[in-house]
Amino acid sequence: MSQTMDSFDAVVVGGGPAGATAADTLARQGRRVLLLDRAGRIKPCGGAIPPRLIRDFGIPDALLVAKASSARMVSPKDVRVDIAIEGGFVGMVDREHFDEWLRERAARHGAERRNGCFERIEHASDGGTLLRYRDASGAASVTVRTRAVIGADGARSLVAQQSIPEAQSRSSVFAYHEIIALPEIPPAGYDASRCDVVYRGTLSPDFYGWVFPHGKTLSIGTGSADKGFSQRGAVAGLRAAVGLAGARTIRREGAPLPMRPLPRWDNGRDVVLAGDAAGVVAPASGEGIYYAMVSGQHAAQAVEALLAGAAPRCLKQARKQFMREHGRVFLVLGILQRFWYSSDKRRERFVSICRDKDVQQLTFDAYMNKRLVRSKPLAHVRIFFKDMAHLLGLARV
Ligand SMILES: Cc1cc2nc3c(=O)[nH]c(=O)nc-3n(C[C@H](O)[C@H](O)[C@H](O)COP(=O)(O)OP(=O)(O)OC[C@H]3O[C@@H](n4cnc5c(N)ncnc54)[C@H](O)[C@@H]3O)c2cc1C
Repeated sequence: MSQTMDSFDAVVVGGGPAGATAADTLARQGRRVLLLDRAGRIKPCGGAIPPRLIRDFGIPDALLVAKASSARMVSPKDVRVDIAIEGGFVGMVDREHFDEWLRERAARHGAERRNGCFERIEHASDGGTLLRYRDASGAASVTVRTRAVIGADGARSLVAQQSIPEAQSRSSVFAYHEIIALPEIPPAGYDASRCDVVYRGTLSPDFYGWVFPHGKTLSIGTGSADKGFSQRGAVAGLRAAVGLAGARTIRREGAPLPMRPLPRWDNGRDVVLAGDAAGVVAPASGEGIYYAMVSGQHAAQAVEALLAGAAPRCLKQARKQFMREHGRVFLVLGILQRFWYSSDKRRERFVSICRDKDVQQLTFDAYMNKRLVRSKPLAHVRIFFKDMAHLLGLARV
């Protein structure tokens, strides 16, 4: 059996943005990579991506089904703050085509694609790593030999559960959305180039509701960690509020969103995680595609070091590098979510402070370009005092 067993430098489990990027990165280095994906399901996702992602990962314009040039923040009392995205836009992608394009790019660079469902990692008597999966028909169990495994199999990652003890007890938010067809005559006030973000306890007790334009369709959704909260009821309410209650529903779907990066992404031997499997979704925004792709790259670079002969502790570099770049933003967004999303009173104030040009510039630069503006330290100070004034009720809402 071992004579006919296929052998790879690395197996990437999961063909979402994290896995496809990891496979592409390793294939470009000339490594023999297997990209294993359980095909057949479209990832439930609002599909909003920042310009930094489009730039850094060479996403072609043809994949963007819409470009949002403004965002509307809506408060519990329906106060609306429109923020123009100056000199840029937020791209909207349909995950069915976006993910497939990423997988195909990895294949073009030499990754081998297979459809199948990961089952487990084993070790041969010689210490080598074996990966077992069920083929696409479900009839056969296939075993391949590999030197490393990248677990990019999403928020319920089986690779993580088998390899990283901390993954057993991870917490998550559940996000739910409905994809609906845009009626031929859109409702009054609908703007195909505007993303609406609605902060209201009836839509989510701890997150927000959204209306994202996708060309001929829309994504309308919400998220919450509260298991007793009716997300379907909330989305029905949001649809009614924006005049889309009767529009044709194409899909109703949801999925867990991990709450925080796992404290460990590797098993110190031959496995490293990326994307939702590693827990890299930004608090407050729920943005995960960009972070999945960046962490996929870091995981691939760590595996490349291992393949080049470094000691297995080099796998730790994936998490280290990621947290060095994004840990601070995750920390700030976590505090922001815990504080501002906790009651309608605070949500009202949060939307109100979003009118502030400094706040807009700071948050947009953090989202669009993934950097905290350092060139304007005084703006940070001003924002801090404004926040305090709002907290203490000294400023008008
Ligand atoms: C409703 C909703 C809306 C969202 N909206 C946004 C948004 O607008 N913008 C944004 O940036 N993020 C958004 N996110 C988050 C974003 O979708 C995720 O963070 C992102 O998809 C993570 O990418 P990933 O590659 O790590 O995992 P995934 O995209 O989940 O990909 C995992 C892959 O692994 C495969 N897989 C799973 N198990 C196995 C197995 N056993 N064997 C083989 N393959 C397997 C799956 O089929 C899948 O292809 C949203 C999430 C939800 C749920």
